[in-house]
Amino acid sequence: MLLAGAALAYASGVMAGAGEARPGDLDPAMKSYATAAVGVVSASILFALQEWSARGRGIALPGVVCGLGIAALLGIAAMDPGPTMQAGNPQNVLLVVVDTLRSDRTELPVGDGLRERTPHLAQLASRGTRYASAYSQAPWTMPSTASMMTGEYPGQHGAYSLTGRLSAPVPVLAEILRESGYQTAAVVSHGFVSKGVGFGQGFDAFDDALVIGKNTHRERSSGKVTDRALKWLGSRDADAPFFLWLHYFDPHYEYLDNPDWPWADDYDGWLKTTPHEIAGLRVQRHRLGPDDLGWLSDLYDEEIAYTDREIGRLIDALGQQGLLDDTVVIFVSDHGEAFGEHGWIGHTLTVHEELVHVPLFWYAPGGQSLTIASVVETRSLFWSLMDHLGIAWQPDSPSRRPLPTREEPDAYAVSGVSLLDAPLMSGKTSVQTSIRTNDATLIVDRLRGSEAYYDRSADLDENAPLAADEGAAALRARLADWEQRFPTTEAATREIDAEEIELLKELGYL
Ligand SMILES: [Zn+2]
Repeated sequence: MLLAGAALAYASGVMAGAGEARPGDLDPAMKSYATAAVGVVSASILFALQEWSARGRGIALPGVVCGLGIAALLGIAAMDPGPTMQAGNPQNVLLVVVDTLRSDRTELPVGDGLRERTPHLAQLASRGTRYASAYSQAPWTMPSTASMMTGEYPGQHGAYSLTGRLSAPVPVLAEILRESGYQTAAVVSHGFVSKGVGFGQGFDAFDDALVIGKNTHRERSSGKVTDRALKWLGSRDADAPFFLWLHYFDPHYEYLDNPDWPWADDYDGWLKTTPHEIAGLRVQRHRLGPDDLGWLSDLYDEEIAYTDREIGRLIDALGQQGLLDDTVVIFVSDHGEAFGEHGWIGHTLTVHEELVHVPLFWYAPGGQSLTIASVVETRSLFWSLMDHLGIAWQPDSPSRRPLPTREEPDAYAVSGVSLLDAPLMSGKTSVQTSIRTNDATLIVDRLRGSEAYYDRSADLDENAPLAADEGAAALRARLADWEQRFPTTEAATREIDAEEIELLKELGYL
């Protein structure tokens, strides 16, 4: 009987968690109190029913008992505890995510020192902390972004399948900030972080009107993201702090030639006059010579430069409105991009350097200008925000790991991909995990049963795997320990229709 009550209580908890987030949903103490109360009432109902039927009585009294029980349940549901958290340091928060931006394209000077792709980002980075070795928790948008929004690894938040979604009851940043008195808003331009896949949780205003539909990824959207963000900033309540999340999309394939930058103008090869859907590019990738790959890379740089200019316009406006004195600005990408490295074009399949090493800058008013070289995980920005804003959120969580404020000799970063449910165009599925320390990288391929070990100081790009030695054994042990601490939960999934399958193909995911 108690077990039945507990099962009902659990089901009630799951149902409460699966609904739209409401203020008051998040206080863990209140939630467990309410869940326990629901369990006690449920158990009482079942007990009364069992007793009654055992004595061979009619239905009238059970009906009354049930009615009373339901009334009690409704009473508990209506008992809204109201806002329960308080930010001790309620500064505004601007989180800027640029899709598909490799870390090495945001460094200045880059390569020959002549190509300034991201001057505005460089300026922002110079005013705060630049994490030079930041690693995303996955090589594609949904799991990586969900990790930033929850502070958890993909195996914990569950949004790691191509047919997946971010679903309650994992609490997300916007819910926690709203519960702490923030206005919350988002402007996103990628379907993998839209309302349809669960990323609208906790937002007062969630603008996914720019989300790529069929063919619209062949239009630029960064300018529109900035326009919409500025519009929302102008309409907000100036008396309450805000959390604004922006997701820019343009560096994602398909890369468009931008007349304001000349970098891709000189190419005259076969790709220029041949339709080049990414799936077709992958099939023909062995035909791509250095000039062809260089052209794709130049187009990519132009998309980055254009997006940087639009972010610059946003940051300038914040400065003119005096908001930079009271706003934490975090800049990050969700994953990188391959231009032939490790035999691949685009992203999603592996956890190699070019796909998981991303830019990460943290600017806070009054903070110091600093570069940290130790490896960090992008999900840590969640925990740093909790600390910086003075929000006591799950202080004992095993996932808790803020960004370091000084070098960390023993740092590590884990990334992973687990794609089994949706065979990719190339016929490949992928289950890989990587662990990086400041000195070395170990990539384990679960499907092939193989591993690769690299020296980060001599071979950051992971071109020449080393023979496994004591160092590899130490990393293997460390990864095994990590896996024990963070066991993978089942992926949350959603139905996808024919139109979405077509779009996912165009974007290179299927
Ligand atoms: Zn992405």
